[in-house]
Amino acid sequence: MKYAKVIIDISAEQVDRAFTYRIPDELSERIMPGVRVQVPFGNAKKAKTGFVIGLTDEAEFDESRIKPILSLLPKALDTNADLIGLAAFMAAEYGCTMNQALKAVLPVKKAVGKNRRRKDPVAEIQSLSGQETQAGQETGSADAPGAFSEGEGLSGKAGATTVPDEALNPDQAAACAAILRETERPTLLYGITGSGKTRVYIELIRHMQSLKKQTIVLIPEISLTYQTVRELTSHLGSRVAVMHSRLSQGEKYEQYMKAANGEIDVMVGPRSALFTPFAKLGLIVIDEEHERTYQSDTAPRYDTRAVAVRRAEMAGAYLVLGSATPSLESYQRAQNGEYALQTLMRRAHPGALMPTVYVEDMRRELEMGNRSIFSDRLKELTADRLERGEQIMLFLNRRGYAGFVSCRSCGTVIKCPHCDVSLTAHNNWYIDPRTGEREAALLSCHYCGYTQPMPRECPSCASRFIAPFGTGTQKLEQAVKKMYPKARVLRMDADSTATKGAYEEILSSFQKGKADILIGTQMIVKGHDFPNVTLVGIVAADMSLNTSEYDASERTFQLITQAAGRSGRGDRAGDVVIQTYDPGHYAIELAARADYLSFYEREMSYRKLMHYPPDTFLMRVRLRSEDEALVAEAAEFAADRAAQLFAADDAAVIGPCSEALYKINDNYRKILYIKHPSHDIIIKIRDTLEEVLMSRYGNRNVYTSFDIR
Ligand code: ADP
Ligand code: ZN
Ligand code: ZN
Repeated sequence: MKYAKVIIDISAEQVDRAFTYRIPDELSERIMPGVRVQVPFGNAKKAKTGFVIGLTDEAEFDESRIKPILSLLPKALDTNADLIGLAAFMAAEYGCTMNQALKAVLPVKKAVGKNRRRKDPVAEIQSLSGQETQAGQETGSADAPGAFSEGEGLSGKAGATTVPDEALNPDQAAACAAILRETERPTLLYGITGSGKTRVYIELIRHMQSLKKQTIVLIPEISLTYQTVRELTSHLGSRVAVMHSRLSQGEKYEQYMKAANGEIDVMVGPRSALFTPFAKLGLIVIDEEHERTYQSDTAPRYDTRAVAVRRAEMAGAYLVLGSATPSLESYQRAQNGEYALQTLMRRAHPGALMPTVYVEDMRRELEMGNRSIFSDRLKELTADRLERGEQIMLFLNRRGYAGFVSCRSCGTVIKCPHCDVSLTAHNNWYIDPRTGEREAALLSCHYCGYTQPMPRECPSCASRFIAPFGTGTQKLEQAVKKMYPKARVLRMDADSTATKGAYEEILSSFQKGKADILIGTQMIVKGHDFPNVTLVGIVAADMSLNTSEYDASERTFQLITQAAGRSGRGDRAGDVVIQTYDPGHYAIELAARADYLSFYEREMSYRKLMHYPPDTFLMRVRLRSEDEALVAEAAEFAADRAAQLFAADDAAVIGPCSEALYKINDNYRKILYIKHPSHDIIIKIRDTLEEVLMSRYGNRNVYTSFDIR
């Protein structure tokens, strides 16, 4: 590339203004997005510092007037400069504006309501889980690290509030030592459910503390904060902070400043915690690395794992990606040596075994006359556990009362007027003022939030035989309470956790044995460690199989394996019941055996055959508009352009077609797929399409987004 785009003044509002500079030959290899350079600017006598945000071969104006870059500056020492470099990388990689990228990496600007009294989220979790906290207690300087050998963890002199560490088992010790030898590449820590990955993270964090370095621990979603913080503070004391969207601006600011001022060593949180301004970042941990939530779905649409690789490189930090069900992408990287691989193949708690798994064919149950949500096996085992005073988790990946509402006379399904989806029934019961009868329910759209009362007759044929079908967590809760009236039941889903502090309340109650059964959506399957749970019921295992996505099997395998992995993690053996209409499906069969490696082989050969990621890069170009004809035209135009311009590169252009959910929020949505094995070419296609679409449809209310897998 001959020219570099450089931004100069990052304090100004308009950071998007980039200037073009010529790249001198001697620097051509080393100028890339994110580096700092010295450039001449306007009439200023002194050269200015700028950040390179992109490269190009085209001069925008008279070539002779373009000034050269003067020099390449060494890597910045200041943390903010590192983060700006990261933003530049994100802007180039994910096709967002520099402004959007900077907003993502420098999210917390100023103190808000400084004087108001606010709670410390970490102290709250400690007190909820029964840990004592002492103000000012420091456990930052752990003992100097020894060798990671069996029976000799790096138990620091944790203060009075921390629990003594169990010794690392030999596998954990070996993994720790090996991870610390990997100074050049990330490590994928593939450890089966309950193998003690968290304990490995804690040892690594202690090691970082002994070097006076800090750690970022990323979790896939807020619901895991309670569990993760509880575990970390119980071993490491109070030098831990959290960052997530449920915190108020003021609370965020306080947590952020604790990191900037070196008052803490560990930051825990969902993906945005990656941008914590630690001065000496030593380690980044991405727990449950396979989770989709690490992919940002708003601009900048970044992949947390890729950005973490970049940040770790910039800071010279270790990066560990942990999972019991690694994404195909990461496992493939481990196979070809891009990542190191460490494995933990046994459960860590002494005596804990993998659970016994039963796959129940719900078609058979129906044939036998069982029309309930529960298979006979699940009923029997539930009664048994209630009798023995052990805990149960029931997983169903649909919130609300029922799936959809339809008319039994004419088959009409009640749909959202703004979206192309059926409404979901919720049992927010109300009393009908005319009859005094209790009536179901409220219908709501999970895509736009629209709600309406349940109609009393079919809108198209006026039949009164209109009813909810399918099962959601609320209906499951109702059925469980009816069947086991004495059981204490908790429910955790997006509805029951809408208020602040709700996650912590539900999880700590269950943790303390105040409930027998925890019902929930995928929120309850990830990473939780409840030693008294000896039965997990996966109520409708195939729900995630029947989507049109190419990775539906992977997703199903992960959900079932993770859910099953919650059972029998303590002293007592556990059982798992998987209820399915498709017991022969390989995702279900292999998840039942917790056989990740066979699943990987099988799924990879399918992806290769079909040319799906990670075998190739797949870019989804999504277009939406309230104008149905216009969006169709724009999509055709984009497809034609892509095919024309990149015919020589052999890019495969598929579509356009309507999205599976064609209308959402009164917007019509088209999608176009472009596949190519080269990342560079995919990026080039994206940038070109963005430009041509922008110039033609930019001010006609057609919105475009791109994501690359
Ligand atoms: P994972 O995250 O791999 O699913 P966890 O880190 O939650 O597993 O550990 C599972 C359980 O094993 C936890 O209750 C933890 O306290 C326990 N555990 C972990 N390491 C050890 C060890 N070395 N000795 C005894 N128990 C352990
Ligand atoms: Zn009808
Ligand atoms: Zn809607």
